[in-house]
Amino acid sequence: MRLLVATRNAGKLGELRRMLDGAGIAGVELLGLDEVPGFPEAPETGRTFEDNALAKARDAARATGLVCVADDSGLAVDELNGMPGVLSARWSGGHGEDGANNALLLAQLRDTPAERRGAAFVCTVALVAPGAAAGAGERVVRGEWRGRIAGSPRGAGGFGYDPVFIPAEEDARVAAGEDLDRLGAAPRSAAELAPGEKDALSHRGRALRLLLPELARLAGA
Ligand code: IMP
Repeated sequence: MRLLVATRNAGKLGELRRMLDGAGIAGVELLGLDEVPGFPEAPETGRTFEDNALAKARDAARATGLVCVADDSGLAVDELNGMPGVLSARWSGGHGEDGANNALLLAQLRDTPAERRGAAFVCTVALVAPGAAAGAGERVVRGEWRGRIAGSPRGAGGFGYDPVFIPAEEDARVAAGEDLDRLGAAPRSAAELAPGEKDALSHRGRALRLLLPELARLAGA
């Protein structure tokens, strides 16, 4: 089966490839948007991650006739009622200005005490089979990665809000006194995790894993 992943991000294609291989799902050829004829791509104007992922997957399936997956993701901060949410990439105004987005978020939470700094990275992934009437042949899944917003940025890995996000698993590790010599006695930010550690925990990984049974079925595995 040819599966179009509605992205130009080679990292996202690679992550899905590793998961399919890891789950022993053979017979899925992954294509990115750069490998299919161009089509008009609507701007992301949905109010929810689900709306955006589904719109992207429906457009791509309609335009190409291929089974398609598309994702949308962002950071939902409890104290900000779930924002930046779908506005995560452009929270400070421009698109994808990670440093400015992080600085604005930290300023907004400056007076918020530690116990109210909870947040989650959220990823929704939509799978759409072409020709499906709305609702039929469509599946939308959501993965969440809980944590909290740090007081200041730390770490040089990852992207986006990784330097200001402390995963719940890191707080749990430090509280349990585990691996302090090897990994440090301070909870690491997502930007301080090794890429493989982040893959295993992340919202994107959790969402993609929920789709694996459906992909196996479509691939006839
Ligand atoms: P998109 O789903 O690729 O459009 O990402 C939306 C925005 O959410 C990104 O620009 C980042 O600001 C943020 N984001 C999504 N996933 C992550 C992550 O794993 N780490 C850090 N930031 C993320």
